[in-house]
Amino acid sequence: MEIKKVVIIGSGTMGSGIAAHLCNANIPVTLLDLKTEISEKAREKIHKSRPPLLIDKSKINNINVGNINDDFDVVKDADWVVEAVVERIDIKHNIYEKIFKSRKRGAIVSSNTSSIPIKILSEKLAEEEKKDFCITHFFNPVRYMGLLEIVKNEKNDLEKISSLKKFCEQELGKGAIVCNDTPGFLGNRVGVFAMQVAMTEAFKMKLSIEEADAVFGRPMGIPKTGVFGLYDLIGIDLMADVLKSFIKELSENDPFQLVAKEIPLISKLIQTGYTGRKGKGGFYRMNKQNNQKILEAINLETGEYSSTKKIDLGIDTVNLNLLINRKDKYGEYAWSVISQIIKYASSLVPSITDKFNDIDEAMRLGFNWAMGPFEMLKSIGVKNFFDRIDSYENNKFLENLSKSKNENFYGERQLYTNIETLGKIKPKAIKVDKNKSAEIYRFKDFNIVEFTTKACALDYDSMDALKNATDKPLIIINESMQFSAGVNLTYTMNFADKGDFKSIEKFIKYFQETCKHLKYSDHPVISAPSGLVLGGGEEVAIQSNFVVSHTNIVMGLVETGVGLVPAGGGCKEVLWRWSQTPEAKKDPDFAPLKVFNIIGYGTTATSTVEAEPLKFLRPEDKKVMNRNSLFEVSKKLILENKDFTPPKECSFNLSGKPLKEKMIKVLEKLYNDKIILDHGMKVGSELANVLSGGDTTIKKTLSEDELYKLELDSFMRLIETKETQQRIKHTLNTGKLLVN
Ligand code: NAD
Repeated sequence: MEIKKVVIIGSGTMGSGIAAHLCNANIPVTLLDLKTEISEKAREKIHKSRPPLLIDKSKINNINVGNINDDFDVVKDADWVVEAVVERIDIKHNIYEKIFKSRKRGAIVSSNTSSIPIKILSEKLAEEEKKDFCITHFFNPVRYMGLLEIVKNEKNDLEKISSLKKFCEQELGKGAIVCNDTPGFLGNRVGVFAMQVAMTEAFKMKLSIEEADAVFGRPMGIPKTGVFGLYDLIGIDLMADVLKSFIKELSENDPFQLVAKEIPLISKLIQTGYTGRKGKGGFYRMNKQNNQKILEAINLETGEYSSTKKIDLGIDTVNLNLLINRKDKYGEYAWSVISQIIKYASSLVPSITDKFNDIDEAMRLGFNWAMGPFEMLKSIGVKNFFDRIDSYENNKFLENLSKSKNENFYGERQLYTNIETLGKIKPKAIKVDKNKSAEIYRFKDFNIVEFTTKACALDYDSMDALKNATDKPLIIINESMQFSAGVNLTYTMNFADKGDFKSIEKFIKYFQETCKHLKYSDHPVISAPSGLVLGGGEEVAIQSNFVVSHTNIVMGLVETGVGLVPAGGGCKEVLWRWSQTPEAKKDPDFAPLKVFNIIGYGTTATSTVEAEPLKFLRPEDKKVMNRNSLFEVSKKLILENKDFTPPKECSFNLSGKPLKEKMIKVLEKLYNDKIILDHGMKVGSELANVLSGGDTTIKKTLSEDELYKLELDSFMRLIETKETQQRIKHTLNTGKLLVN
């Protein structure tokens, strides 16, 4: 079965997200709604969406729109029809009747329902129709969420289901998990339960919402939105509907019922329009005081708002034992939440799935958890867990495990896919080295480096790991969300605060030395980025010999925003790439002026398609829709490059002073237009100095080392200024840029 044309019915949040993603995969798609104006508006919204739902915005018109009365004929040609209308069974049944009257024989019809069982959805279908009907449950936002749950009915043509799964994996890049027809399937059943436990325990233990989010967040390997932040993001009203549906669908004695009860404060928030970020605010809200925006948090007892308080648990990496063994309310809360999640998830085995591994992977893909409940159990340790847990009656999984006491109960990861993923390989590889910022694995005859810091921020240790791993072909790849958000600014500022600029210089020199080493070592170096590839992260990627990039990346040299210039070879490498263009051969100032613009504005690409024209990626770099495939494609490149020879060193002829003057003119205009202020002028001048070649002339050939030196000198001059330090501190404290 081939899927060449798709029709989506319902152009709301999910319908438009699915349409955009099919467009990303170059599949012709038509979006139908009650009226064409609705689907047309949806298309406009896709175009404006941030973060963008489209990989390539210029393809927006590849999404056709129409209405279900005049344009229903398109269904006749479709290989797959996705229903994504409101969650109402009567409306869905009417739509199916219409679809099955028109569809091409054998075409797949699926629903995106999040809560209606397939047996109810398909109850009015003929036996023959049931063969081709299933649920395809995408998560929001469709482009960015990895999970797709496919729910089949007992009449399904299994070959068709498996080819749909293959299509969704290969073409749409989804982690497609086939699940049984149980309420909330896998992801929401466990994910929403986890949120409810985290919330109800916070009420019970009288934690503030900032405290709860600080614990049920990064230290547990959960995104930093925590529980209350996530509630605001999803919509407090939508969550209330989801809970109602669970209460209705689940049996009375399901422990979910206990944590799904209505909470008066939440009902009040919904009634008063505090439905979360889309409403007036939610558990958090932005308030304006004296012309300043202030983030406020609600007090769970009084319902009053006050300025948020930063909670620092002093934990940088995920370490569950450290967290649950704390002798304070945070430790108590963490244990209570984690143990209940493990208990609940394991109670669902084998009744909702006999593959506990699928539950973990659904949590990774659908909720961006670093590990699922069973991996949490593994990480706490079987003995430690049973020493502390009180009761687990009627829980077959835990009863068996308490008897076997098997610390290695987990087995393989990611059983739902045939792709050779990093997650599957890591347990089979030898961990040859580890420091506080990275781990080196040896697999077959190559090495793997995985950064392990928060947002994979880079420091001296990260560079050390890279350098030490080049004795074999090397793949730089991460399972966590980001490839790297750049150099660790806290690490750098710790030196700056002490006036220890020598240590900063030593670090930057080592960064440069390592990147140069990556580029010219005897073995191929492959970077396989996904997520954030910023600043130093991009410098590592572009100075690798090959790049295998996930299509969802945010890539850019953004250093000027924090008052610095890229100094790990970023200016040099992008300049070199632009110098190879036909325009640059004619005009020696073309490339430096282009790069001055790109780096000066901190331009970022939000996809591989946007990264290529900026020359952050090259046409020959591999672009991959499925993040799970990054490792497999990288490994293939190593095999194909057995006779690898490192590239030739590059050199530069730059105009020097007259070119710098051209760049200063650009800066002066920006300054006069008040787009940049005094320090912006200083940062821009340093960038101009690097890209014009400093004290040089067009006749003089500069080596890569000379360019590295220019980058380093400018970086050092800038980091020593109080204005750059103010910018960095502002970004570290607020996550925003300071214009000074
Ligand atoms: P939505 O309210 O944003 O959009 C529904 C769309 O369906 C609207 O544009 C509406 O005009 C249209 N519609 C209603 N009746 C129709 C009909 N008879 N014919 C054609 N179009 C019709 O809803 P949504 O959030 O996109 O949800 C759609 C489905 O996806 C639901 O089943 C929901 O449970 C499920 N779902 C939602 C999410 C989420 O996060 N929003 C996540 C997963 C699954």
